[in-house]
Amino acid sequence: MSDEALILRNGQLAQEDAPELLDTDLMIEKGRLKAVGPKLPAVEGVAEIDCTGRIFLPGLFDVHVHLREPGREDKETIATGSEAAINGGVTGIVAMPNCTPAIDSGGMVQSVLDIASREARIPVLTTGCITKGRLGQELANIGGMHARGAVMITDDGDPVGNHQILRRAMEYAREFDLIVASHCEVKELSGVGAMNEGEVSYRLGIPGIPAESEEICISRDIRLAHLTGAHVHIQHVTSGEGMRIIERFKEDGIKVTCEVSPHHLIFNETHIEDYDTHYKMNPPLRTAEDNAILLDGLKRGVFDVIATDHAPHTDFEKQLDFASAPFGITGLETALPSLYQHFIKPGHFGWDLLVKRYAAEPRRLLGLDLVEFKEDAPVNLTLFNPERETHFTEDFMRSKSRNTPFLDKQVQGHVEMVILGDQILLDRISRSS
Ligand SMILES: [Zn+2]
Repeated sequence: MSDEALILRNGQLAQEDAPELLDTDLMIEKGRLKAVGPKLPAVEGVAEIDCTGRIFLPGLFDVHVHLREPGREDKETIATGSEAAINGGVTGIVAMPNCTPAIDSGGMVQSVLDIASREARIPVLTTGCITKGRLGQELANIGGMHARGAVMITDDGDPVGNHQILRRAMEYAREFDLIVASHCEVKELSGVGAMNEGEVSYRLGIPGIPAESEEICISRDIRLAHLTGAHVHIQHVTSGEGMRIIERFKEDGIKVTCEVSPHHLIFNETHIEDYDTHYKMNPPLRTAEDNAILLDGLKRGVFDVIATDHAPHTDFEKQLDFASAPFGITGLETALPSLYQHFIKPGHFGWDLLVKRYAAEPRRLLGLDLVEFKEDAPVNLTLFNPERETHFTEDFMRSKSRNTPFLDKQVQGHVEMVILGDQILLDRISRSS
């Protein structure tokens, strides 16, 4: 786009804490909003796009993404993962450190950020490990990773099993004002489990992971955060009781934030009936009742952010039997249309909630600038068409991996355009006027 101006006409702006969409035009010039408001005057020589029926959203921001680089570039790279984000309307992501080698030093943090600055068209931030090699034995150099720009520390994929090591990590993190992000699981209780423990796992003959595995660890991690004064962020909450534990601590004024992923809102253990490994993740899909409790918690503000836990795996690995296949599904490309289809379209929640939890609060969590729709603000825009379907074919997807339950399915809603600064990152809007 470079310096050329553009007018996006007749869209509807979604904003946090504003239940009604706002009819508006946007005029963009040199990467900034030149004018915002209804019925902007036409300007000679300035191209226009008719956005009737489209929603203007701030670019979404995902705080939980696995990019697999370095080490498993056959699954994803920083380049392909960030393109998958753009394809889903996401303009900022945070990488998890469970790479090979693990991102557990200042040098590793720097190397990931260097690759990102060369190869990604959106901001890619990174976390660093809590323990060296993510092995849970010895603290990583938390100060060194912080100095190079790590935005959180986490051993995601695994909990820190040793209470004392976690306590020490939290004490360091507090000194640097770093968030400790927790994958909550008691390994001894999860054992070789591959799905939620209960009636369905018994019937399918798949070893189960009890919800208590997650709930006990949530409670421990928040108690240790309280003891140390650290900020703990509970990742991918799946259990209704786990959410209630967080809510009770929040009511007591303890500094804890938490996230919920689209798949834990939309799917549950009954989707595993035909042993489809696209429904295998950790923590696992729970019950329909948990879906309802999590949704209610999201609406009531218990969850600070929505995050996908985008976890690419090869077809080869996901085609293994259910017990052997790896945990995790991709999510960056499917999150927005699937949340629209399942929750916004049927009226469970509005665009304001989506903007708050998947664009504004994730940036607030990390102390980043918010996206604003006012004159002279930098452009950071996702254009969504609720009337157009998305068919998640292999051709459509930009991720190197296709391990999603939405593969080859049609979902209502389509990301048509993504603009960041002076770059049009994605353009699928038809201009047949
Ligand atoms: Zn995790």
